[in-house]
Amino acid sequence: MNTSSSSPAHADSTYLLAIDQGTTSSRAILFTAGGNVAAVAQRELELFYPHDGWVEQQAVNIWQDTLAVCQEVVQAAAEQGAVIEAVGITNQRETTVVWDRNTGEPVYNAIVWQDRRTADYCEQLKAAGHEGSLTAKTGLLLDPYFCASKLRWILNEVEGVRARAEAGDLLFGTIDSFLLWHLTDGAEHATDITNASRTLLYNIHEQQWDEELLRLFDIPRSMLPEVKNNTCDFGRTTITSLGVDLPIAAMIGDQQSALVGQGCFAPGSIKSTYGTGCFMLMNTGAQALASENRLLTTVAYRLDSATHYALEGSIFVAGAAIQWLRDGLQLFDDAAQSEALATSVQSNGGVYFVPALTGLGAPYWQANARGMIVGLTRDTNRAHLTRAALEAQAYQTRDLVEAMQADGGQTPPVLRVDGGLVANGFACQALADILQTQVEVPHIAEATAWGAASLAGLQVGVFDSLQAIGEVWQLQHRYTPSMSASDADALYGGWQQAINRLLN
Ligand code: ADP
Repeated sequence: MNTSSSSPAHADSTYLLAIDQGTTSSRAILFTAGGNVAAVAQRELELFYPHDGWVEQQAVNIWQDTLAVCQEVVQAAAEQGAVIEAVGITNQRETTVVWDRNTGEPVYNAIVWQDRRTADYCEQLKAAGHEGSLTAKTGLLLDPYFCASKLRWILNEVEGVRARAEAGDLLFGTIDSFLLWHLTDGAEHATDITNASRTLLYNIHEQQWDEELLRLFDIPRSMLPEVKNNTCDFGRTTITSLGVDLPIAAMIGDQQSALVGQGCFAPGSIKSTYGTGCFMLMNTGAQALASENRLLTTVAYRLDSATHYALEGSIFVAGAAIQWLRDGLQLFDDAAQSEALATSVQSNGGVYFVPALTGLGAPYWQANARGMIVGLTRDTNRAHLTRAALEAQAYQTRDLVEAMQADGGQTPPVLRVDGGLVANGFACQALADILQTQVEVPHIAEATAWGAASLAGLQVGVFDSLQAIGEVWQLQHRYTPSMSASDADALYGGWQQAINRLLN
């Protein structure tokens, strides 16, 4: 744990800017090197659902909102007399954008990671026997979640796009890359290795774009960004873009960024982030562990030439289930009210909610699955439904932990958690109970943004090592199991029955 003596020199007078472009909002956060938030600006981002299973965002809004929040924070920094040492970018992963290399204009909306429009195409590839070699190269599975099939869809379905791409006029990128291009006024078309490792086009062992996969998905090589380390010189913001000239010194996908922000550098350490979805990552060090249980093998981070890998469990709907209860069913006005509702009843009353609202992710990977609520009686009310939705986060997490254990991992003694949903004390206690493990919430609530900021600090010499970053981590709250193992097993058994019904 942190002590003030281990913080870098001038911990509270050295400033780093994090850009955190998430699924539900775009944020800019000014951190001190001691991990304190000096200024923050945020804009909510709209999601569009044009057809069943489709999820889109306006790429132009993503850029304009990001620019606006950055400008607000840069101004706040100037007013405080704070000098920003460097910028780090973290982003929603897999969300796919294609834009014109001359004008910066996107050719289509951003197709969001949750989008399932290419589910049938992925099934066809699977049926044709492609999944094995694809997993061996990328560590991923044949699922519409990743970029490749989304990018292919844009190339094939949006009029004129393939011809423009083949003429070399179009660029592909995930959100990090799209923002970098705009922040540098089109000077840099690059991505980092963690974002590249989620495209289904990148060989994580050879660490390069894979020609065979590019052919399989029919992707012109000229569209792809250069892949860089997480810490390096990504270029500079310009006077015409942001209004100030700052070095962009780190980029990293949001879940890997949270791994860094949570100080999970030791092999075996685990974090789980509960935002729109839930993503659990275990650092496996220099070893790219292949999963036998449908977890993903992914790059955790690459600094200098040393690559660290992670085993990942990805769940598509976590906080989004609470949003759906709020907006779809209108059970409450504010996500925070879900806690009081859930604790207003003694138990879930036998109600289980499998929130497969955008298909089922790890370890089931059923792109076409739909959500399900079981166990309803005349006594069921909105409190039971809400409790079931929050408990579902614990059951989904236990599914992942059991898959990791089956892959040869240990029961984690501690799970470090972050993301919007961990503001909910009931949900965190349910996690500790159902997993029968300690659950730790850090004092830096914005672990994802802090990961990118701290890596930018590492690149420009504010930190001298990952260990120095890890020493900034402090405990805010620890949840310990308050339920017997047999009660936890009984509750989890009800979830497994619900899942089996859904799968069958
Ligand atoms: P993202 O980075 O994916 O945009 P965030 O980490 O900002 O997501 O978390 C937002 C999610 O957290 C939303 O889906 C919201 O429903 C959920 N959330 C926020 N506060 C609470 C709360 N007190 N209880 C339950 N869920 C919450």
